[in-house]
Amino acid sequence: MAKQPMLKFVTVERDMPEKRSAEVRNEDFLEIYAPFIKAKAEEQASRCSQCGVPYCQSHCPLHNNIPDWLNMTATGRLEEAYELSQATNTFPEICGRICPQDRLCEGGCVIENSGHGTVTIGAVEKYITDTAWEKGWVKPITPLAERAESVGIIGAGPGGLAAADMLRRAGVQVTVYDRYDRAGGLLTYGIPGFKLEKDVVMKRNDQLTESGVTLKLNCNVGEDISFDDIRGAHDAVIIATGVYKSRDLGGPGAGAKGIVKALDYLTASNRLNFGDTVPEFESGELNAAGKKVVVIGGGDTAMDCVRTAIRQGAESVKCLYRRDRANMPGSQRETNNAEEEGVIFEWLSAPKGFTGDAVEGVMVQKMRLGAPDASGRQSPEVIEGADYVEEADLVIKALGFEPEDLQTLWNQPDLPVTRWGTVKAEFTTGATDLEGVYAVGDIVRGASLVVWAIRDGRDCAEAILKKFDAAKTVAAE
Ligand code: FAD
Ligand code: SF4
Ligand code: SF4
Repeated sequence: MAKQPMLKFVTVERDMPEKRSAEVRNEDFLEIYAPFIKAKAEEQASRCSQCGVPYCQSHCPLHNNIPDWLNMTATGRLEEAYELSQATNTFPEICGRICPQDRLCEGGCVIENSGHGTVTIGAVEKYITDTAWEKGWVKPITPLAERAESVGIIGAGPGGLAAADMLRRAGVQVTVYDRYDRAGGLLTYGIPGFKLEKDVVMKRNDQLTESGVTLKLNCNVGEDISFDDIRGAHDAVIIATGVYKSRDLGGPGAGAKGIVKALDYLTASNRLNFGDTVPEFESGELNAAGKKVVVIGGGDTAMDCVRTAIRQGAESVKCLYRRDRANMPGSQRETNNAEEEGVIFEWLSAPKGFTGDAVEGVMVQKMRLGAPDASGRQSPEVIEGADYVEEADLVIKALGFEPEDLQTLWNQPDLPVTRWGTVKAEFTTGATDLEGVYAVGDIVRGASLVVWAIRDGRDCAEAILKKFDAAKTVAAE
């Protein structure tokens, strides 16, 4: 009888790829996990119990066919595993690296309920497509036939690029406009290399241009070209501009020198790692070396800032968050990594103001968690008389992002927006009330996740293709 290749979770422990020690990884911006070796990937994939109703799949925003590609990996059918994986995910090697798997696919993996660690789904997904790149299985897109319709996409982040990929596969003429000099959005300039090395993103950008997608970079829509001009040049337009307006802090001294925005800080660091000249880094303004750094916030952006500051050689790095660890929005995995790397967390601590003309300290109020608010989260309340000053000569504000005012910036009073300023669009298609205008990713959802932007981009591309096909049918009748 053939040997059962799967269900090994009873005898094989969960094991992640080797993680470099904190001392070693703090010296560079390379990813912290080594790649899986073949035998290890096969072993870990073989732990899957091949559930008839796979909760991992329903917890993945892309509904990836996880049990099947785990089976194919475990049984050495890696090229088939790659084909299946890429059929539902435009950037599997990116999601495998940066999805918060504990809250998504792995959070739904049932073998954890029976006391065994979850299958390492993300690490296997990364292994499959990294191997596909190495073996040359990932190829530029060659559509079966070219189509006459064209789509303009504003924003070359994961949402815009996922839509570009799907549309190009169907032969549509695609132009992506972006104000940055490199495509990738936050994959390129937000997320640091220790979570996502940049050659992984650049390879995807190259693949799209080799597939015939036109990238118009250094093109700020609203300044270098108007929204109306883009709308006039294409049969459909997708807005995929993300959210970039940083939430700010008030209080005395909030405008002091040395208090900087998280995204400015992370972008400077990422640019430096590309080899670009970054005057704000060279002047010391966006450089943590030798400084006492305080990062304010408890989300993924704050975690990326504290860990970047460690790598830049800060004297000390502290993170202030107004709730406790259990209630922070950032991934627990990244918080653990930050702690291992030497970051100190000051939970239940909120800034009240700042000392010094050039910042010297953060005036901190201690908090406790009170009654739940309307969303069910416990609201932080000030503990009177417990204030203190935390020394700091670089303060990084990582308090979240809001949408820019596109109606004003683009002179589009009819563009439908919500009361939060996000673009109002149908969730399953991205369609807005403006004819032929769609929107996807963070600009619709508010600050979210890469995997959701990919999902939106793919859904929107599908809806546009249906619309084009329907118009053709009508024209032929
Ligand atoms: P973006 O990636 O923001 O791309 C938007 C693009 O539009 C940009 O390239 C921008 O230049 C361009 N653009 C904007 N306005 C214009 C204009 N007027 N003209 C031309 N171009 C324009 N998610 C995860 O899943 N895992 C993580 O680990 C993670 N870490 C994160 C860390 C940080 C620091 C940040 C800030 C976010 C992180 N996220 C993470 C969230 C994730 O990056 C976003 O949800 C995702 O990138 C949204 O994709 P998008 O395509 O909607 O927008
Ligand atoms: Fe898990 Fe993200 Fe991959 Fe889905 S895309 S399987 S959530 S890592
Ligand atoms: Fe395999 Fe876990 Fe998914 Fe079940 S839930 S199919 S065990 S990965």
